[in-house]
Amino acid sequence: MKIDHIGIAVRALDEATKSYEETFGLKVSSVDQVEEQGVRLAMLDIGESRLELLEPTRDDSPIGKFLSKRGEGLHHIAIQVENLELLLTRLKAAGVRLIDEKPRNGAHNTKVAFIHPSSTHGVLMELVQHGE
Ligand code: ZN
Repeated sequence: MKIDHIGIAVRALDEATKSYEETFGLKVSSVDQVEEQGVRLAMLDIGESRLELLEPTRDDSPIGKFLSKRGEGLHHIAIQVENLELLLTRLKAAGVRLIDEKPRNGAHNTKVAFIHPSSTHGVLMELVQHGE
């Protein structure tokens, strides 16, 4: 396992990516929009990992709700795993509260699932399996 990326909720994606590029000298590797989740996101490479900046495309999306409740800031930590389906089965059996009991499609040929913060001491955790 390793940290795949760290998700940060922002109000204005272009402004935020520019500021991360200027402050830390990072480069944007991709920008995507996932309409189903109401989010536009930019990935910035940082060593073996990445920062994922998330901007809502509508106020009632998960990121939109997060921003209106808590403001900008750390949203989730994503862990890269080998077999997401198997891991979810194990976590569920162990009583871990899952937001996604089945893997769903993420950007760039990935499968993702979220674990509820109540089972991870207050941090929203995303599990990511990269496609072959
Ligand atoms: Zn993420």
